[in-house]
This record gives sequence, C-alpha cells and structure tokens, in this order.
Amino acid sequence: MDINEFIMSNEAVIRLSFFLGIFAVMAIWEFIAPRRILTVSKVMRWTNNLALVLLNTFILRLLFPAAAVGVAVFSSEQGWGLFNYYEVSPVIAIIASVVIMDFVIYLQHVMVHAVPVLWRLHRVHHADPDYDVTTGARFHPIEIILSMLIKFATIILLGPPVVAVVIFEVILNATAMFNHSNVRLNLVVDKWLRLLLVTPDMHRVHHSVEDDETNSNFGFSLPWWDRLLGTYRDQPRGGHENMIIGIHTYNDPKQVSWLHGMLCLPFIGRINSYAINRRSWGSESDSNE
Ligand SMILES: [Zn+2]
Ligand SMILES: [Zn+2]
Repeated sequence: MDINEFIMSNEAVIRLSFFLGIFAVMAIWEFIAPRRILTVSKVMRWTNNLALVLLNTFILRLLFPAAAVGVAVFSSEQGWGLFNYYEVSPVIAIIASVVIMDFVIYLQHVMVHAVPVLWRLHRVHHADPDYDVTTGARFHPIEIILSMLIKFATIILLGPPVVAVVIFEVILNATAMFNHSNVRLNLVVDKWLRLLLVTPDMHRVHHSVEDDETNSNFGFSLPWWDRLLGTYRDQPRGGHENMIIGIHTYNDPKQVSWLHGMLCLPFIGRINSYAINRRSWGSESDSNE
C-alpha cells in the first residue's frame, strides 16, 4: 500500500491517538504541578469545553469527511500547488510545508483578532475564565469551519506532501494542548524552550484580560513569528499567578463556561473599535453593553 493511501485511510485514528495520548499526559501534569489555581471547578470546565470539542469534531466529520489530508491528496493528483508544480526534495518540501502552514495559522490568528466579526467568534476561545489543556481546543464551531477552509486554500496553493499535512496537524494539536496547559515548567527550561516552541507561560500572556497583552503572542507552535513581526511579549505585567484570564466584560458563568453560552457568545454584545487597535494599556476595550 502506498504511503498516501495509508495516511488517507488512517488519518482519523492517527490524529485521535495523538490527541488522547497528549491530552492524558498534560492532564496528569496539570494535576501534579499546576501553575495557577482554577476559578471554575474542573468538572464544570471539562464537561463543557470537551462537549464543545466533541461537537466540533462531529461537525467537521460531517462537512469535510476527507479532511485536510483529502485535499492534499487531491491537489497532488491534480498537480496543484507550489510543491506539486516544482520538483523539490521531499525532506525540504515537508519541513517548508510545516513551517509555512504554521505561519498561515499565525496570520489567521492575528486576523481573527483584527476583524471585528471574526473577533466575535474568537472571543469564545478567550472568554474561558481559566487556562488549561481543554482551553486549547475550545473554539466556536464557525471558527473551526473557517480555519478548515483557510487550511484547504493553503494546501491547494502550497501543494504540500500529504505526510506534511498529517505532521502539521498532529504538531498543531499537540502544541495547542501543551501551551494551553496549566502546568508549572522550570523557568530556565521555559526560557530555552520558547526559542523553539510556544510554551504555556508564553501563550498565557495572550489570554490576559489586558488588551495589550491579549494582542501579543499569537503563535501556536513556532514562537518565531511573534518575534519577527513585533508581537512578542515576554511575561504578563501582573505575573502568571496573579494575572486575570479571560475578557474584561464577560464574567457570567452561563455565558463563558456553559456550552450553550459559548455557542451564543458571538451573537451578543457590541464591539466598539477594531480589536487589534487595542495595543496600549488602559485604552477603551471591547464592551458588552
Ligand atoms: Zn487569540
Ligand atoms: Zn489560546
């Protein structure tokens, strides 16, 4: 059996195995060495956040049964995209594809903060009043569908090797769970690790209620885009234990922690200014009035 066929027929199992394995490791790590005390009970958080993850998985399977891997196989059969058009050594094509797709995710993340209607969707991820492994997969279904369509477009233009798409998805999933975890990591290890990988302390800054901190550290896997494009911030002003996680004006547990509240969140409230403009401390913030 050829490698692409093998990946096509097993991609769901491959991704699910990595998801469950890394989830279990991070969950145990959070239990042994938590970084912060949670404000909402873990049972409540996990039931609702994981219910949303389950719903998203179901919707994606229903809408796009062939998934990103299917689009990569189709593109390679059609000869579409950069790496299908030009002859490049497979190793270089794989590495370049994974790095470029990660950059697209960074740009997409900046975009969902910059465009008001998209920020409405992305608020669901940020409204989580705590920060743990389940936050990493907590996105509104419409944002999940949008991400998938952007991924499809990227694959069609880039023509990455099929195996690169699987590697990218597994890495993205793994790093999202890792860097959203409520784990205590040795500060020296964190300092060195964040040269290569977005660490929990680095991404936590992005989940601060302070607007200028929220508009920093957009990277999911590779930390370089934030450093190169000027959106990097080392630490939160209030320190990791004392900083407040979430969005200023969204505190009602029914809205920010319960499944039906999360699903309705994009459709309520007003947004006063372009979210991305909120770069300085104390400027006018997103209002819920
Ligand atoms: Zn964000
Ligand atoms: Zn996040």
